[in-house]
Amino acid sequence: MRTIVQKFGGSSVADPSLIKNVAQRVVHTKDEGNRVVVVVSALGDTTDELLDLVHKITDHPGEREIDMLLSTGEQVSIALLAMAINKLGYSAISFTGFQAGIYTDDAHSKARILKIDPQRVRQELDQDKIVVVAGFQGITESGEIATLGRGGSDTTAVALAAALKADLCEIYTDVDGVYTADPRVVPSAVKLDSISYDEMLELASLGALVLQPRAVEFAKNYAVPLSIRSSFNDYEGTLVGEVESVENCRPVSGIAHDLNVAKIGIFDVPDCPGMARKIFLTLANEKINVDMIIQGWVRDDRNDIVFTVTRGDLERALPVVEAIVKEIGASGFVYNDQVAKVSIVGAGMVTNPGVAADMFKVLAREGINIEMISTSEIKVSCIIQEDQSIKAVNALHAEFIK
Ligand code: ASP
Ligand code: MG
Repeated sequence: MRTIVQKFGGSSVADPSLIKNVAQRVVHTKDEGNRVVVVVSALGDTTDELLDLVHKITDHPGEREIDMLLSTGEQVSIALLAMAINKLGYSAISFTGFQAGIYTDDAHSKARILKIDPQRVRQELDQDKIVVVAGFQGITESGEIATLGRGGSDTTAVALAAALKADLCEIYTDVDGVYTADPRVVPSAVKLDSISYDEMLELASLGALVLQPRAVEFAKNYAVPLSIRSSFNDYEGTLVGEVESVENCRPVSGIAHDLNVAKIGIFDVPDCPGMARKIFLTLANEKINVDMIIQGWVRDDRNDIVFTVTRGDLERALPVVEAIVKEIGASGFVYNDQVAKVSIVGAGMVTNPGVAADMFKVLAREGINIEMISTSEIKVSCIIQEDQSIKAVNALHAEFIK
């Protein structure tokens, strides 16, 4: 008998009729002879609404209480979905993260899953029940509720699938799968039938917000096959799997763009050991996530270091950078938040020389100036002016995907 974990996001359970629709889908999977575990997010925009409530009460809510509050969103969903499944004449039981044996570290609001002990889940599956688990939450060693970061239900689903050695983890959402580019920006974007974990990881963390990046990481590490598909139709979604199992000769599988970027440059950093350490350790200690980092050729014992952060972190980053500049004796710093990151991603890039050059050719032809470049084995990213990003993504899509 196959075990399938199905995850439904907030938009798939936004109201009672959608919850009933999900229940139908779940029992259909059960009828096909599968053991079914369902992970659900909070209804619609509940999590945002709960956060709005917090801000009406206080500016200093305390992270423990925030997690206490946010975790209620998913608890509403599991109870209602279990009821909807039971109403159809099947037997379902709902579990909180704790009841499902999901243990996390104590980093409230961005906790990591440390281990899963799915004993109760297994017992109920053995009793032929459908098990409905609250996404996005777990329990710390000291018995506190912790949440996994926005979009964390994806990670719950994949982690549970890994712990249960499930045959498939289906992520149901409001899009039909993973597209070659954001269809709202590139009208000719098409859905991919399959994609490798690495490509998905790049696309997920490059602003193609179909899946929490950490969930993809988990899926890759535990070789959990993922299917990303819509809860509103029956189209086959996109299969995310090992490179061997996916068609893997495309140099470029997708184009991503991310507007949530700001760049910061520090000028004339002294060329001696420990400078980069100083800059990035200080930023890390302030919990500022740094993405692209570029350091070039040294001239006159001085060097410029340029990097990017999210726009949300920029305001906190600037005073930190200002202090660092003084401390290390750099000559100054600049920043710009009117930029965007456009990236081409493809596992076949490794074996196809000239892909980066083709990207630069396209951008040049469109008259788009490249401000920063960074590459990995399977991607090339460029920072450009924000107002040129739509033009860039469309031109790159036309060149590489057609
Ligand atoms: N409800 C949480 C959020 O909105 C978790 C999730 O949807 O995956 O971020
Ligand atoms: Mg949500």
